[in-house]
Amino acid sequence: MRFERYGVGIAKGMALTLRNFFRPPITLQYPEDKLVISRRLRGNELVWYPDRCTGCATCAKSCPQGNIEIITHVGDSNNYVVDKFEVDTGRCMFCGLCVESCPYEALFMGLGYERAQYRRGQLVLSKEELQPSDIRQPSGYARPKVEQTLPRQSLLINWDKEKEEGGQKLSPLPMRKRRKGNGL
Ligand code: SF4
Ligand code: SF4
Repeated sequence: MRFERYGVGIAKGMALTLRNFFRPPITLQYPEDKLVISRRLRGNELVWYPDRCTGCATCAKSCPQGNIEIITHVGDSNNYVVDKFEVDTGRCMFCGLCVESCPYEALFMGLGYERAQYRRGQLVLSKEELQPSDIRQPSGYARPKVEQTLPRQSLLINWDKEKEEGGQKLSPLPMRKRRKGNGL
Protein backbone atom coordinates (compact mmCIF):
# COMPACT_ATOMS: atom_id res chain seq x y z
CA MET A 1 0.00 0.00 0.00
CA ARG A 2 1.30 3.50 -0.86
CA PHE A 3 0.92 6.42 1.55
CA GLU A 4 0.98 10.02 0.40
CA ARG A 5 2.06 12.87 2.61
CA TYR A 6 -0.96 14.18 4.52
CA GLY A 7 -2.56 17.24 2.91
CA VAL A 8 -1.10 16.89 -0.60
CA GLY A 9 -4.51 16.07 -2.06
CA ILE A 10 -6.07 19.11 -0.39
CA ALA A 11 -3.29 21.37 -1.72
CA LYS A 12 -3.75 20.01 -5.26
CA GLY A 13 -7.51 20.55 -5.06
CA MET A 14 -7.12 24.11 -3.77
CA ALA A 15 -4.57 24.92 -6.50
CA LEU A 16 -7.05 23.79 -9.14
CA THR A 17 -9.85 25.79 -7.50
CA LEU A 18 -7.71 28.94 -7.39
CA ARG A 19 -6.61 28.54 -11.00
CA ASN A 20 -10.22 28.37 -12.15
CA PHE A 21 -11.32 31.14 -9.77
CA PHE A 22 -9.23 33.75 -11.61
CA ARG A 23 -10.01 32.49 -15.11
CA PRO A 24 -12.71 34.43 -17.04
CA PRO A 25 -15.94 32.44 -17.28
CA ILE A 26 -16.24 30.24 -20.38
CA THR A 27 -19.85 30.92 -21.16
CA LEU A 28 -21.84 32.43 -23.99
CA GLN A 29 -24.42 35.17 -23.81
CA TYR A 30 -26.91 33.03 -25.72
CA PRO A 31 -28.93 33.90 -27.79
CA GLU A 32 -26.93 37.06 -28.62
CA ASP A 33 -23.73 35.00 -29.00
CA LYS A 34 -23.83 31.60 -30.67
CA LEU A 35 -21.21 28.98 -31.38
CA VAL A 36 -20.76 27.52 -34.84
CA ILE A 37 -22.58 24.23 -34.57
CA SER A 38 -21.52 20.80 -35.81
CA ARG A 39 -21.51 20.41 -39.56
CA ARG A 40 -23.32 17.10 -39.17
CA LEU A 41 -25.98 18.39 -36.80
CA ARG A 42 -29.34 16.64 -36.83
CA GLY A 43 -31.31 19.80 -36.09
CA ASN A 44 -34.99 19.70 -35.31
CA GLU A 45 -36.13 20.18 -38.86
CA LEU A 46 -35.74 18.53 -42.27
CA VAL A 47 -34.88 20.15 -45.59
CA TRP A 48 -36.48 18.86 -48.78
CA TYR A 49 -35.46 19.58 -52.39
CA PRO A 50 -38.56 19.14 -54.61
CA ASP A 51 -36.60 19.19 -57.88
CA ARG A 52 -34.63 16.08 -56.83
CA CYS A 53 -37.51 14.19 -55.24
CA THR A 54 -39.03 11.39 -57.35
CA GLY A 55 -41.86 10.65 -54.93
CA CYS A 56 -40.54 7.12 -54.40
CA ALA A 57 -41.54 7.27 -50.70
CA THR A 58 -38.46 5.35 -49.53
CA CYS A 59 -38.01 7.96 -46.81
CA ALA A 60 -41.58 7.49 -45.57
CA LYS A 61 -41.12 3.70 -45.44
CA SER A 62 -37.86 4.10 -43.49
CA CYS A 63 -39.34 6.31 -40.79
CA PRO A 64 -39.93 4.25 -37.64
CA GLN A 65 -42.41 6.85 -36.43
CA GLY A 66 -44.49 7.08 -39.59
CA ASN A 67 -43.93 10.84 -39.63
CA ILE A 68 -43.67 11.41 -43.35
CA GLU A 69 -46.82 11.56 -45.45
CA ILE A 70 -46.45 11.55 -49.22
CA ILE A 71 -49.26 11.69 -51.78
CA THR A 72 -48.40 11.47 -55.47
CA HIS A 73 -50.14 11.12 -58.81
CA VAL A 74 -48.78 9.79 -62.11
CA GLY A 75 -47.49 12.56 -64.36
CA ASP A 76 -47.37 12.91 -68.17
CA SER A 77 -44.03 11.09 -68.49
CA ASN A 78 -45.21 8.21 -66.31
CA ASN A 79 -43.40 9.76 -63.36
CA TYR A 80 -44.62 10.48 -59.83
CA VAL A 81 -45.70 14.06 -59.18
CA VAL A 82 -45.61 14.92 -55.47
CA ASP A 83 -48.89 16.50 -54.33
CA LYS A 84 -48.21 16.31 -50.62
CA PHE A 85 -44.97 15.93 -48.70
CA GLU A 86 -45.54 16.53 -45.02
CA VAL A 87 -43.38 15.82 -41.96
CA ASP A 88 -44.65 15.93 -38.40
CA THR A 89 -41.54 17.23 -36.63
CA GLY A 90 -43.44 17.15 -33.33
CA ARG A 91 -43.22 13.33 -33.38
CA CYS A 92 -39.84 13.16 -35.09
CA MET A 93 -36.90 11.83 -33.07
CA PHE A 94 -34.38 13.19 -35.61
CA CYS A 95 -32.79 9.80 -36.10
CA GLY A 96 -31.87 10.65 -39.71
CA LEU A 97 -33.01 7.29 -41.14
CA CYS A 98 -35.20 8.98 -43.76
CA VAL A 99 -32.24 11.11 -44.89
CA GLU A 100 -29.90 8.11 -45.09
CA SER A 101 -32.41 6.10 -47.08
CA CYS A 102 -33.21 8.72 -49.75
CA PRO A 103 -31.58 7.43 -52.97
CA TYR A 104 -31.69 10.82 -54.71
CA GLU A 105 -30.27 13.12 -52.00
CA ALA A 106 -33.53 15.05 -51.90
CA LEU A 107 -33.91 15.01 -48.12
CA PHE A 108 -31.47 16.47 -45.59
CA MET A 109 -31.33 17.01 -41.89
CA GLY A 110 -31.42 20.75 -41.12
CA LEU A 111 -28.98 23.00 -39.26
CA GLY A 112 -31.74 24.77 -37.31
CA TYR A 113 -32.27 23.98 -33.64
CA GLU A 114 -34.54 26.80 -32.48
CA ARG A 115 -37.84 25.55 -33.87
CA ALA A 116 -39.98 25.62 -30.72
CA GLN A 117 -43.65 26.47 -31.33
CA TYR A 118 -46.63 27.16 -29.13
CA ARG A 119 -48.97 24.75 -30.95
CA ARG A 120 -48.33 21.16 -32.03
CA GLY A 121 -49.99 21.80 -35.36
CA GLN A 122 -47.26 24.30 -36.23
CA LEU A 123 -44.72 21.48 -36.04
CA VAL A 124 -46.29 19.71 -39.01
CA LEU A 125 -44.29 21.03 -41.96
CA SER A 126 -45.76 21.18 -45.44
CA LYS A 127 -43.74 20.76 -48.62
CA GLU A 128 -43.47 24.56 -48.98
CA GLU A 129 -42.13 24.93 -45.43
CA LEU A 130 -39.62 22.10 -45.86
CA GLN A 131 -37.84 23.68 -48.78
CA PRO A 132 -34.42 25.31 -48.31
CA SER A 133 -34.33 29.04 -47.55
CA ASP A 134 -32.12 31.59 -45.79
CA ILE A 135 -33.21 30.24 -42.40
CA ARG A 136 -33.56 26.56 -43.41
CA GLN A 137 -30.23 25.18 -44.51
CA PRO A 138 -29.20 21.53 -44.94
CA SER A 139 -26.71 19.94 -42.58
CA GLY A 140 -23.85 17.68 -43.64
CA TYR A 141 -25.38 14.67 -41.86
CA ALA A 142 -25.00 11.68 -44.24
CA ARG A 143 -24.09 14.19 -46.97
CA PRO A 144 -20.29 14.51 -47.14
CA LYS A 145 -20.42 16.95 -50.07
CA VAL A 146 -22.50 19.41 -48.06
CA GLU A 147 -20.34 18.86 -44.98
CA GLN A 148 -17.25 20.05 -46.82
CA THR A 149 -18.89 23.41 -47.60
CA LEU A 150 -19.83 24.22 -43.99
CA PRO A 151 -17.65 26.04 -41.44
CA ARG A 152 -15.94 24.01 -38.74
CA GLN A 153 -17.62 23.65 -35.39
CA SER A 154 -16.36 25.90 -32.61
CA LEU A 155 -16.26 24.74 -29.01
CA LEU A 156 -16.27 26.78 -25.84
CA ILE A 157 -12.87 25.37 -24.88
CA ASN A 158 -11.50 26.90 -28.12
CA TRP A 159 -13.22 30.23 -27.57
CA ASP A 160 -10.03 32.30 -27.78
CA LYS A 161 -8.33 30.39 -30.61
CA GLU A 162 -8.21 31.57 -34.18
CA LYS A 163 -10.86 30.39 -36.63
CA GLU A 164 -8.38 28.20 -38.52
CA GLU A 165 -7.89 26.15 -35.37
CA GLY A 166 -11.62 25.56 -35.05
CA GLY A 167 -12.03 28.39 -32.56
CA GLN A 168 -14.25 31.43 -32.66
CA LYS A 169 -13.54 34.97 -31.51
CA LEU A 170 -16.22 35.79 -28.98
CA SER A 171 -14.91 39.08 -27.52
CA PRO A 172 -15.28 37.93 -23.90
CA LEU A 173 -16.05 40.49 -21.20
CA PRO A 174 -13.80 40.83 -18.16
CA MET A 175 -15.11 38.73 -15.25
CA ARG A 176 -16.24 41.73 -13.16
CA LYS A 177 -18.27 43.18 -16.03
CA ARG A 178 -19.85 39.80 -16.80
CA ARG A 179 -20.89 39.27 -13.21
CA LYS A 180 -22.49 42.76 -13.15
CA GLY A 181 -24.31 42.01 -16.39
CA ASN A 182 -25.59 38.71 -15.00
CA GLY A 183 -26.86 40.43 -11.85
CA LEU A 184 -24.36 38.45 -9.73
S1 SF4 B 1 -35.61 11.79 -38.71
FE1 SF4 B 1 -36.27 9.70 -38.11
S2 SF4 B 1 -38.19 10.01 -36.97
FE2 SF4 B 1 -37.77 11.93 -38.09
S3 SF4 B 1 -38.91 11.76 -40.00
FE3 SF4 B 1 -36.83 10.99 -40.42
S4 SF4 B 1 -36.91 8.77 -40.04
FE4 SF4 B 1 -38.74 9.68 -39.13
S1 SF4 C 1 -37.28 12.55 -50.42
FE1 SF4 C 1 -36.04 10.94 -51.37
S2 SF4 C 1 -36.80 8.99 -50.53
FE2 SF4 C 1 -38.34 10.60 -50.07
S3 SF4 C 1 -39.79 10.45 -51.77
FE3 SF4 C 1 -38.29 12.00 -52.34
S4 SF4 C 1 -36.70 10.90 -53.50
FE4 SF4 C 1 -37.92 9.33 -52.45
